[in-house]
Amino acid sequence: MGYVKRDYRKRSYWLESLGDIVPNPSLKGDVKTDVAIIGGGYTGLSTGYHVKMYDSGTDVVVLEAEICGYGASGRNGGFNMTLFGLTPSITKLRFGVERGKQARKFMEEAVDYLREFILSHDVDCDYESSGYLLVATNEAQVKRLEHEIEVAREMEFDGIEVWDREKLSKEFHTDKFLLGWFEKRCGILHPAKWARSLKSIAESKGVRIFEYSPVLEVSKRKESPYKFVIKTPEGKLMSKKLVFATNAYSVLFPELYKYQTPAFTRIVMTEPLTDEQMERIGWSNRAGIEDSRDFIHYYRLTKDNRIVIGGRDVGVTYGRDMEKDRDEKNFEELKRYLLWVFPQLQGIRFTHQWGGPVSITLDMAPAIGFLGKDRDAMFALGYIGHGVSATFNTGRTMAELLLEMDTPRTGLFFIGRKIIPFPPEPFRFVLSHAIRGYMRLEDRLKYGEKF
Ligand SMILES: Cc1cc2nc3c(=O)[nH]c(=O)nc-3n(C[C@H](O)[C@H](O)[C@H](O)COP(=O)(O)OP(=O)(O)OC[C@H]3O[C@@H](n4cnc5c(N)ncnc54)[C@H](O)[C@@H]3O)c2cc1C
Repeated sequence: MGYVKRDYRKRSYWLESLGDIVPNPSLKGDVKTDVAIIGGGYTGLSTGYHVKMYDSGTDVVVLEAEICGYGASGRNGGFNMTLFGLTPSITKLRFGVERGKQARKFMEEAVDYLREFILSHDVDCDYESSGYLLVATNEAQVKRLEHEIEVAREMEFDGIEVWDREKLSKEFHTDKFLLGWFEKRCGILHPAKWARSLKSIAESKGVRIFEYSPVLEVSKRKESPYKFVIKTPEGKLMSKKLVFATNAYSVLFPELYKYQTPAFTRIVMTEPLTDEQMERIGWSNRAGIEDSRDFIHYYRLTKDNRIVIGGRDVGVTYGRDMEKDRDEKNFEELKRYLLWVFPQLQGIRFTHQWGGPVSITLDMAPAIGFLGKDRDAMFALGYIGHGVSATFNTGRTMAELLLEMDTPRTGLFFIGRKIIPFPPEPFRFVLSHAIRGYMRLEDRLKYGEKF
């Protein structure tokens, strides 16, 4: 693993909008800790925060390769949402009804916990309790969404409202929305502000965070209670327990390589809409919106009324390439799609475009896992595009496991679950490409819009 310091400002509008950050010092020399966490995104920061919240006497160190929030956590759509896995019906098919219910409960709890945490701690991250709307924009999507609503009823999902065409056309000035699934408990936030705030909150509890400290190598020894030896360019961290909170970047670590693959989702963003433009499109409820394709479109408003829209395709990579976040064709398609939904925005200027890596397991569901038999090294990955809420609750769960607590979360089925392995290259690339190809074809022939 080589080390090149990267400019975080170029990785998303959200990161750019933070202005100049004074990074924490890098790890230097030999340091000892109880819990070492690799990765300073939501998962790593939440795990560190929760360990300290439960037990202030346990020492925690986070090592981040760039700045905290540099990865998906500083670039995402900012939807605080309940989805576990790709769709409820796929989760049911893969895990069965009882586990599907358990997953849903975890996610409802995750969304509520994140919202209440942010509001009660007055966290500066532009949080809006505006809800989440899943729409169908053609007949094939209507059928699919009707089926998902049925599955949601069967699995006793809480808080789903079904919106018909009439209700949708009152809320939005578009004729493209034919059916909707609305969840009031959800919301939207400024993802990079949330990541940086969570960093400060974790530090205020005593978590030690080193930035620009990429982990180059991890080894384990028997002769010391500080079993894990974690090397960075200028330092060495020795810890009793270890957490990989590297999500899509887990592909860089031989220990985790087979469990997931990175896929890159891209976003474009408009200039702020004028009051008159806002009136023309409706959207006064400000809900985050997704459609019902395989490769969904996701779109939302920012605090200053820009539209952020992402999805439609993903980039898959060969080997350890983590630089697939830009794709001109994908950007242009997203711009065209927004004008298809809201033709009244014709002429709007797009000011930013970016992308970032999500972590994909072969069954598209998240996992919390242990490495080896000792249960002293853990990881969490595979949130696909739905990690904003899940990571915060996962961090709490991992802290509970690290502290050997017994809580309603520590027995969840996706902890230590069997993860179907990806094959090594070149087969991994071929397989990811084939899955992407199939989903793109299905969207083109069935779920996609004609324009
Ligand atoms: C464009 C985009 C849109 C998305 N939209 C949404 C959304 O609207 N709602 C939602 O719920 N989810 C969304 N997601 C998914 C969500 O952002 C992720 O699930 C979540 O941020 C994962 O957090 P994490 O901390 O696990 O991973 P990351 O935020 O990726 O953190 C991993 C960290 O590990 C660091 N790292 C890597 N290698 C090393 C190393 N060698 N040493 C030390 N540190 C290292 C990285 O720099 C990074 O900071 C989206 C993702 C993307 C990319």
